[in-house]
Amino acid sequence: MTMGTSTVTRRAALFAGAGILATPLLATGARYARAEPPMLGPARPTHYRFPLGDFEITMLHDGARQLDGPYPIFGEDQDPADVAAYAEENFLPGHRMEISFAPIVVNTGQELVLFDTGNAAGGQPDVGNTVERLEAAGYGADQVDLVVITHFHPDHIGGLMRDGGPAFPNARYAVGRVEYDWWTSDAPVGTPREGQVGLIESNVVPLAEAMSFIEDGEDVVSGISAVAAFGHSPGHMAFHLESNGNRFLIFADATNHYVMSLQRPDWHVVFDQDKDMAIESRRRLLDMLASERIPAAGYHMPFPAVGFVERVQDSYRWLPASYQLRVESGD
Ligand SMILES: [Zn+2]
Repeated sequence: MTMGTSTVTRRAALFAGAGILATPLLATGARYARAEPPMLGPARPTHYRFPLGDFEITMLHDGARQLDGPYPIFGEDQDPADVAAYAEENFLPGHRMEISFAPIVVNTGQELVLFDTGNAAGGQPDVGNTVERLEAAGYGADQVDLVVITHFHPDHIGGLMRDGGPAFPNARYAVGRVEYDWWTSDAPVGTPREGQVGLIESNVVPLAEAMSFIEDGEDVVSGISAVAAFGHSPGHMAFHLESNGNRFLIFADATNHYVMSLQRPDWHVVFDQDKDMAIESRRRLLDMLASERIPAAGYHMPFPAVGFVERVQDSYRWLPASYQLRVESGD
């Protein structure tokens, strides 16, 4: 009885208090006009980190670029209207798209390994931020021990050099043997790829003395091995990580769009140099990811670009990782 009375009394006092406060606040708002809050523009995360066994993996957001598409970048062998309709069916704009870029840092406990370097700094707006993102994630460019390049397209090698010198001054490098040999031979001459050779001459060739040239199945460091995934470029490489029984695949550009490349893996992609070989590599890696249920990262998947691949009939679906990689075992 007493308690009940007391509660009612207290509540009445609270309401009374609120009433007393409300009136002067409203009046104050009317008398002193405050500046309207400024619009700050879109914001994104700059990095994302999680453990893998004894390794620690940090995804970096080099930036993103918007352009017309998905057709003909994706589905160039399809009817343009079908590609636009398929994008819209998947809650994407039919005629605009975004490509983002996600270099990866793997701390093995012994070495800091950077996979791909992003776009050239100071070029196009909103990209070329890999060094800044590395610093935001807690590392200096001079701490990188090894830079692994998955292939020689500009969005992967653009960040190798900065201000006329190596962007990662203490690093050695690992690049695919097949990729290096193709781009530094006469093969690109007279092909649509010829225009990219200049960047390879300025950003890759000067570092050759500090480079190891890797083949399919070779380790770049203990626990990280190369997996040939040719087609997107002549010597495009994926990388398999394993630490303490935990596996992970860096599939780089074997798939380039989380909807178009996974759900329609046979559609031709403008960026794939050998379309049939790229489809074979894409399906082989996606098959492996789906059947072995291992987590993966793709350079152009939506940031933080980490997820799983599910098989759906004869194609696949990208499932972005949520907390799976952060959950500690309960026992
Ligand atoms: Zn790429």
